[in-house]
Amino acid sequence: MTTTTARPALIDGFGRTVTYLRVSVTDRCDLRCVYCMAEKMVFLPKAEVLTLEELDRISSAFISLGVRKLRLTGGEPLVRKGFMSLVESLSRHLKSGALDELTLTTNGTRLAELAADLARLGVQRVNVSMDTLKPDLFRTLTRGGDLAKVITGIEAAQAAGIAVKINAVALAQDNAAEIPQLIQWAHGRGLDMTLIETMPLGEVEADRTDQFLSLEQVRRELSSYWTLTDLPLNTGGPARYVRVEETGGRLGLITPLSHNFCEACNRVRLTCTGTLHTCLGREDASDLRAVLRAGADDEDLIEAIRHAVDAKPQGHDFQIARGEAPATRRHMSTTGG
Ligand code: SAM
Ligand code: SF4
Repeated sequence: MTTTTARPALIDGFGRTVTYLRVSVTDRCDLRCVYCMAEKMVFLPKAEVLTLEELDRISSAFISLGVRKLRLTGGEPLVRKGFMSLVESLSRHLKSGALDELTLTTNGTRLAELAADLARLGVQRVNVSMDTLKPDLFRTLTRGGDLAKVITGIEAAQAAGIAVKINAVALAQDNAAEIPQLIQWAHGRGLDMTLIETMPLGEVEADRTDQFLSLEQVRRELSSYWTLTDLPLNTGGPARYVRVEETGGRLGLITPLSHNFCEACNRVRLTCTGTLHTCLGREDASDLRAVLRAGADDEDLIEAIRHAVDAKPQGHDFQIARGEAPATRRHMSTTGG
């Protein structure tokens, strides 16, 4: 077993230290959000998806290299068979102090059943995606989802002592007018809220030019009736935070298109097939599954990770113009949001 505490941190070619890993545990989902998936998605054959043991092994290698925060995502992480045993296994790193935070991003549909167990295993915060408070619009945007289930899930998480942050994608044609209500709803329940600009990841039916709503514009509108105070909070990611003085709550704005956030980027992403993407918006990829399945020991795996991180691109290359191809061919559900 390698002793890891003495190892130097994972530092990329531009001097950025990688301390945050997002792991997509499945490409599958019980919803089909219009901006995320095509209506008829073809999911990966099981053999291509990392086993729970492989997910644990790669995640643990990253933790041994100084990753302090692990976010499990997907697809929908809570639909992955055996997901709770993966959480249980990874929670050993929380107990040992090697990991500061084990968290997940979920659509919330299964949260009601699982929140208490997640809390017991040390999950203290979750992000729940919810783009509207209108049940009909929710059904349309998710192609069949039940908003009531998500709200019950959020309440169960809160009751279990888990802090919930609501993520909403800002959609020009669908929820733009509702954004203030969403913020009030979240803040009224003591929940943080983050708005996300649509990103051009993977082909979907809708034209992203029609869906794109600049958060600069949203911010300007909100500022016309609310006081937004910039917060110094920087998580190393694309979100910028403000406090809405009137609601007392925190609002994050993720603006990958109207703002570049790459210089302070501290994160990398592992897909459910074991491909490491060191930049969300580029096609760069390292196949860690191939390394594992070729019989690599921990040293080989760590070497492959170091090699990939060393080549992390300086920045993304997103553009949303009419007729432009997506920045990447992969959907957000493959890379993990
Ligand atoms: N199923 C979980 C969920 O919905 O929270 C986790 C995975 S989902 C891919 C993670 C986040 O990515 C969600 O908040 C979703 O709204 C967001 N997302 C998906 N496709 C996106 C896109 N093209 N642009 C921006 N955000 C996107
Ligand atoms: Fe599923 Fe999340 Fe994508 Fe919606 S955003 S289809 S819930 S993976």
